[in-house]
Amino acid sequence: MAVTNPTGAPPVQLALDLAAHGWHVFPLSPSNKRPLANCLDCQDNPHCADDDYDACACLPDGQWCHGVRAATTDPDRITTWWRRTPHAVPAIAAGPSGLVLIDLDTHSGQPPADPATQLLPGIPLADDQVPGGLGSIRNGIDAMHLLARVRGGPRPWPSGPKHQPVSVHTPSGGRHLWYRAPDNDLHQALSALGWQIDIKAGWSYGIAPGATTASGTYTIHGGAPHTPGRMPDWLLEEVRRVAGPKPAPAPPTVIPATPGQGNAVGYVRTVLDRGTAEIAPLTDGRKAALSALAYKVGGLLTWAGLTPTDVEDHLVHAGLASGLHHRDAHRIVHRSLTNGLNRPLPAPSDRRTA
Ligand SMILES: [Zn+2]
Ligand SMILES: [Zn+2]
Repeated sequence: MAVTNPTGAPPVQLALDLAAHGWHVFPLSPSNKRPLANCLDCQDNPHCADDDYDACACLPDGQWCHGVRAATTDPDRITTWWRRTPHAVPAIAAGPSGLVLIDLDTHSGQPPADPATQLLPGIPLADDQVPGGLGSIRNGIDAMHLLARVRGGPRPWPSGPKHQPVSVHTPSGGRHLWYRAPDNDLHQALSALGWQIDIKAGWSYGIAPGATTASGTYTIHGGAPHTPGRMPDWLLEEVRRVAGPKPAPAPPTVIPATPGQGNAVGYVRTVLDRGTAEIAPLTDGRKAALSALAYKVGGLLTWAGLTPTDVEDHLVHAGLASGLHHRDAHRIVHRSLTNGLNRPLPAPSDRRTA
């Protein structure tokens, strides 16, 4: 059964229809399009605040706490949720559904200051690559046409259902292109393919095709939710280029060494560098790995004569390189560094080379 014209259908029906096609659904508040609030237990539970969802009892219990993490295809769960909040807006968790969303915005913001390098970061452009010049690119839809022009060859959008995304017109004039995700190698949940072009994968989400919010309906204009097509090869290559695994960036800070503490500081720096390199390619367990690294480094600070400030940026950067949000990386580093500092490790004199 295809979801061809769900406009006007009750949200629960849309949610159930999409779930029947394997789309993982969860509810958004109809007033602000954000996930519904966590229960009081989750608001008070430090594990939940640290995104340690394995320790949350609500998710296995079928509650909607933690937004996209609660997404499901279970019709009973969906029916219960929408019985409680009949006007909730269904949203789709990209990764669990095996989907990737190319989100083309039409913000009215200023175009990039340097279109030649900023419209499609990583792809240098010349003004004569578009009729009308790069200054004629006004939104994400234009930027996507430009990307197709420079990377897609003579026929960038193959016809036929195999490459047909579920394409949606959004109430603000943007486009959502829901494609079947490539084999599980999109590392970043949210990345920018270009100016006003976002890639939403993994635990990122989008408003369900066919859903209606206060600003209007997300209308399906092509494709079918039971058979989302695959990206053409050139687009897949571009998506992998920006959303695939990344090498760790260079450490942002140089730890100051003062005479007499050189060996200890060098030891801490080695621990940081090795830990950073180990965390960068992780998707599962990167929070735990970052926490363990920060805890270990925290335990060495007193011995090395360093302060948390000397290492904090470096640790946060290790988390960012693995694709964590800044907020999460910062919180994990701050907490674990403090815990480690409060439990100093013995001087690693017999382990100078880590
Ligand atoms: Zn809860
Ligand atoms: Zn929780």
